[in-house]
Amino acid sequence: VARYDARVSSDCLFCGIVAGDIPSTKVYETDLTFAFRDIHPSAPIHVLVIPKAHYPDMATLVAADPQLASAVLAASAEVASIEGIADAGYRMVVNTGTDGGQTIFHAHVHVIGGGKVVGLPG
Ligand code: 5GP
Ligand code: ZN
Repeated sequence: VARYDARVSSDCLFCGIVAGDIPSTKVYETDLTFAFRDIHPSAPIHVLVIPKAHYPDMATLVAADPQLASAVLAASAEVASIEGIADAGYRMVVNTGTDGGQTIFHAHVHVIGGGKVVGLPG
């Protein structure tokens, strides 16, 4: 995988959310990550967890900066605890590319729960 230099993408919706130019409902924030509620929730709890730096998808992120990818996963688990669904269980989803259903090309984890999660896989 070619080296990818993260930068702020001026036409990226999630970079706009990190910058505060686009409003969002913040759930959790660290120096490297930001978590906010999905605007079209698929379940009672549906939070998006992103690196503040712009990477187009998770594959690019983990190749370029595995420690940052790990920070996004750790933040996602922390979000589940904050939202009170860690014990009951939840789903982390990473859509990658067009066939994977990715629509926003800034790497993100969906944290979904608050009820039995239905849909692929499981
Ligand atoms: P993807 O399909 O790329 O995996 O997920 C993108 C997610 O971003 C979708 O679940 C969609 O509902 C959410 N989304 C799209 N636009 C906005 C927005 O302006 N604000 C927030 N909070 N979520 C958004
Ligand atoms: Zn971005």
